[in-house]
Amino acid sequence: MTTDQILSDYITFGDDIHDDAAPSGPIEKRWDERKFSAKLVNPANRRKLSVIIVGSGLAGASAAATLGEAGYHVKNFCYQDSPRRAHSIAAQGGINAAKNYRNDGDSIYRLFYDTVKGGDFRSRESNVYRLAQVSVNIIDQCVAQGVPFAREYGGLLDNRSFGGVQVSRTFYARGQTGQQLLIGAYQALERQIGLGTVEMNTRHEMLEIIMVDGRARGVVVRDMITGEIETHTADAVVLATGGYGNVFFLSTNAMGCNVTATWRAHRKGAYFANPCYTQIHPTCIPVSGDYQSKLTLMSESLRNDGRIWVPKKAGDDRHASDIPEDERDYYLERIYPSFGNLVPRDIASRAAKYQCDAGKGVGPGGLGVYLDFADAIERMGRDTVEAKYGNLFDMYAQITGEDPYTEPMRIYPAVHYTMGGLWVDYDLQSNLTGLFVAGEANFSDHGANRLGASALMQGLADGYFVLPYTIANYLADGPFEKIDDSHPAVVEARQAVEERVQTLLSIDGKRTVDSFHKELGHIMWDYCGMERTEEGLVKAIQLIRDLKAEFWSNVKVTGVNEELNQTLERAGRVADFFELGELMCIDALNRRESCGGHFRAESQTEDGEALRHDDEFAYVAAWEFGGDKPVLHKEPLEYEYVEMKARSYK
Ligand SMILES: Cc1cc2nc3c(=O)[nH]c(=O)nc-3n(C[C@H](O)[C@H](O)[C@H](O)COP(=O)(O)OP(=O)(O)OC[C@H]3O[C@@H](n4cnc5c(N)ncnc54)[C@H](O)[C@@H]3O)c2cc1C
Repeated sequence: MTTDQILSDYITFGDDIHDDAAPSGPIEKRWDERKFSAKLVNPANRRKLSVIIVGSGLAGASAAATLGEAGYHVKNFCYQDSPRRAHSIAAQGGINAAKNYRNDGDSIYRLFYDTVKGGDFRSRESNVYRLAQVSVNIIDQCVAQGVPFAREYGGLLDNRSFGGVQVSRTFYARGQTGQQLLIGAYQALERQIGLGTVEMNTRHEMLEIIMVDGRARGVVVRDMITGEIETHTADAVVLATGGYGNVFFLSTNAMGCNVTATWRAHRKGAYFANPCYTQIHPTCIPVSGDYQSKLTLMSESLRNDGRIWVPKKAGDDRHASDIPEDERDYYLERIYPSFGNLVPRDIASRAAKYQCDAGKGVGPGGLGVYLDFADAIERMGRDTVEAKYGNLFDMYAQITGEDPYTEPMRIYPAVHYTMGGLWVDYDLQSNLTGLFVAGEANFSDHGANRLGASALMQGLADGYFVLPYTIANYLADGPFEKIDDSHPAVVEARQAVEERVQTLLSIDGKRTVDSFHKELGHIMWDYCGMERTEEGLVKAIQLIRDLKAEFWSNVKVTGVNEELNQTLERAGRVADFFELGELMCIDALNRRESCGGHFRAESQTEDGEALRHDDEFAYVAAWEFGGDKPVLHKEPLEYEYVEMKARSYK
């Protein structure tokens, strides 16, 4: 069978789409113009308008606090027992902003350029430029909230570097940047909860979206303590529900991270964009056994001072300290002298894989490379290294039982972030009217590879600075017709959730939910992980379909609905992961090029670098739900400001 025949078995080809909300004109004026052209809602009218926000991470909490402060009535949902526990709390290394405090040549334009290039020319210029512009406001906002960013001796905010850039623009709070930023957003949110503008619903999982006359008007949620199924309606809905890396079972994401909210919206018509773009982070603690349910990130910030190396000789199993300097290969410094250890994540991950594939990996199973601080300790002294990275070193020591001050860390790539997500326009509105998507849950700004420290930037840009304007523009046409619980669309959505819960509980099969999830994760990692091929992806799609069929006839969900039931929660999430996993493989099959985190073995340069095919694939792949044969809509990408060329970090 030819490739075209294979593709036609899996894909229905639909019409091209365009981002109609994107302004034109000089790029530096586009956001100002959009803000000016956006309709406003006067303060008295805001009190009559309501917004549902699902998610209380950096994107959701910042949006809820800001819209609450503006005077809208906000209902916020999260599945944790406190908004303070959203997964954003795990972020370690930092947040980018084009402040140029170091006077090292940074600018809004350079952050824009680095991000477009870092994303391997698969993101929208207008969105990325806005992100770079807004980045400078984020830092001011967070400092005003009291976020304790690291400071230099003189008292000024300190910066460090992250991958894919040659300036220092990353603001940080030791290795706990996400936690400190989230506390800032959480305080702002709590203030609004206290004032009564935001109604917080913790321990509520959104399981369906309510569409009325073509508009998103509400959600169906399950109270995770009592099992009660509730419906909530509003004038607009925002999903800020994070990424879907846990489709791989093992990832650096929190155990609860899932795709359910966005997938349910997808099933109701929202396009899912670029699902195959997964970020595999180069510096994680290697897998150590079958019993693991989670992997641990060692922040990219460590690559500012740590040096990555493997033994020059394959199969060299001497202890690191017994391998003399001239028998070590600092391969990133050798291959990419301009960026060295700070090449972007996709490149560093593949390079580590190549070293391990060549038999030079270290540690059990040969799936590891060294991240070594000996030089840094000699240069700066142990105290300075400890002050900069102490909590990360402690974490490493606790997990591995090894002391990273005296021997190099062992690291290996692991699934970390998902660049794909629900398709949104410049206003962050999905193709479903009234449904907005923010943070990692949307696909918008990172193209095929996200640069380090830019997810926090994007989440806060969306929540504090973009949505308040673009949602107002939408709500200016409201309030919309009041919807009550007896509306047929509400009743239907609620019934769908109840039936699904009952179906899961009634299967009463023999296999645990986790065993299915683990098997799915293995399929995804083996065939849709760091390297993908046509043959492997076709195989994976069939394996996933078979496993999904078995799941629906043989899964065992213990307990009942009317109580806290984590098995039931996980079963619903894994059911959605099956469908997502299948779409990821179809998207990867369709994209017969390599770009960023998506590496098709058939499309590489002679020295193993990703080979893009701009003539055929310079588009966003926006998928419409279509069961076994999803519909592909292409949004062509145009570059007016940054020249599309082969990405080089040499
Ligand atoms: C270990 C680690 C370290 C990282 N370090 C950095 C870093 O240093 N710098 C950086 O820029 N990025 C970093 N990232 C990435 C960054 O942390 C995330 O991309 C970002 O925090 C996501 O924020 P968010 O608000 O979009 O989603 P999240 O913080 O994941 O929040 C999702 C919210 O949605 C809710 N939710 C989800 N589904 C449902 C549902 N169905 N019903 C109800 N509620 C739901 C959750 O309860 C939660 O409140 C890191 C990621 C990891 C895993």
